[in-house]
Amino acid sequence: MTPRTPITVAYGDGIGPEIMDAVLRIIQTAGAQIEIETIEIGEKVYLRGVETGMEPKAWDSLRRTQVFLKAPITTPQGGGYKSLNVTTRKALGLYANVRPSVSYHPFIYTQHPSMNVVIIRENEEDLYAGIEHRQTEQVYQCLKLISRPGSEKVIRYAFEYARAHNRKKVTCFVKDNIMKLTDGLFHKVFNEIAAEYPDLENETWIVDIGAAKLADTPENFDVIVMPNLYGDVLSDVAAQIAGSVGLAGSANIGDQCAMFEAIHGSAPRLAGQNKANPSGLLLGAIMMLVHIGQPEVATRVHNAWLKAIEEGIHTDDIFTEGNSRQKVGTAEFADAVINRLGEVPIMLKTVSYGKVPSLSLWRKSEHHQKAVKQLVGVDVFLDWEPGSPNELGNALMQVLADPLQLRVITNRGIKVWPDGLPETFCTDHWRCRFMGRDGETVRSSHVVELLKRVAEAGFDPIKTENLYLFDGVPGFSAVHG
Ligand code: NAD
Repeated sequence: MTPRTPITVAYGDGIGPEIMDAVLRIIQTAGAQIEIETIEIGEKVYLRGVETGMEPKAWDSLRRTQVFLKAPITTPQGGGYKSLNVTTRKALGLYANVRPSVSYHPFIYTQHPSMNVVIIRENEEDLYAGIEHRQTEQVYQCLKLISRPGSEKVIRYAFEYARAHNRKKVTCFVKDNIMKLTDGLFHKVFNEIAAEYPDLENETWIVDIGAAKLADTPENFDVIVMPNLYGDVLSDVAAQIAGSVGLAGSANIGDQCAMFEAIHGSAPRLAGQNKANPSGLLLGAIMMLVHIGQPEVATRVHNAWLKAIEEGIHTDDIFTEGNSRQKVGTAEFADAVINRLGEVPIMLKTVSYGKVPSLSLWRKSEHHQKAVKQLVGVDVFLDWEPGSPNELGNALMQVLADPLQLRVITNRGIKVWPDGLPETFCTDHWRCRFMGRDGETVRSSHVVELLKRVAEAGFDPIKTENLYLFDGVPGFSAVHG
């Protein structure tokens, strides 16, 4: 007999407890060998003053079981609360978020009858690093961080996932025509890793047109890997156009731990009414069963669920006249799935899971050698309001800090000095680029001296960014304008 696998379960908020009850009832009746440790997370914990929404003993359980089945939670209104999802993903190193979106035509209404797309979203970095600053009266900043190891992990995972699940193609979405360094790195790593999987097709789309194509002809996509923010937005779009966000589950995978959930939230207005659709969480739990090595149970549950769906037994959110036969509540839907355990769908494609190899395969890329880093200049950002770009340029030209020399001033990335256009709108946030004279090497002490003199001249430097060459290639963007 299969030994019981310990898992940590959180019932969450809003509709969470009802859908979790339904899901646990279904998978346990189907024979899931699990030992449940329950933790409390979410609104009540936040309101007790725990800013992460999760107490230390909950973390202990997660680190012990390494498997987390999580219902959605409500983040209380108002500031000061950290996103529990983002904290959990980052703290446990859950670097890949896997979100399949499948249509169930003709039983659930969709304009895309043959859609079957898996979005693999980078889960730990990008704009979700949560590093934001207000720098001047007018300007706020959010740092977008893309790392080589972060990109390698999620992209290799996407190719391994595609291979393990008999998928044919991996697509990358980026915006590297604009963000040449950050998204450019993601794209470069994608190309490097794609070359190691000649059995799989690969392609890259700029995210805007890629998103339009995904919304229009999703059947042309298979597995798509992308940075965090694009993945967050587009996986909801994909789930919705497949039928409903209420139908999509998600797996958050790390090297040690994994978390499984629905992609939707806690739907507080539906709470306690036995109306919510438990399918998203159930499909998350099915991914969990495969992950913990119980693919036979996952297969039984998934096929019973498909059978209930194709018989038109639908919760309110997916009920449509013509497609649906019987409108049921959360608990009755769970009963309908349980009653069909052992059956397979007739019209929809039967599912069969096998043992999936462990996909925790991250290894440092062999494509990359450590580069020689050379400091060649510095961008000094100033909070400055009083006058025109020329006044600022003239004043900064008087600040001498050999070998650093003022080259260019930009405002929101557009060149305004020298030779700016009078039409360019300027805020109080100025980037002043100083470079070493004649390519002379710059030292940190030169930057410190420059800052001192800029401050002594009466300016307010709000931050600096050092400008480096890596093996002679600029590690900073060129100036527009
Ligand atoms: P939501 O996903 O809870 O609801 C959006 C819409 O979808 C609502 O109309 C809702 O009734 C419907 N819906 C969602 N799940 C459904 C289901 N299973 N069955 C039937 N209908 C369903 O999004 P929201 O209203 O923006 O957020 C509500 C709360 O959930 C917020 O506090 C938010 O912070 C939180 N949230 C949590 C998670 C999570 O824990 N993973 C994710 C997203 C939002």
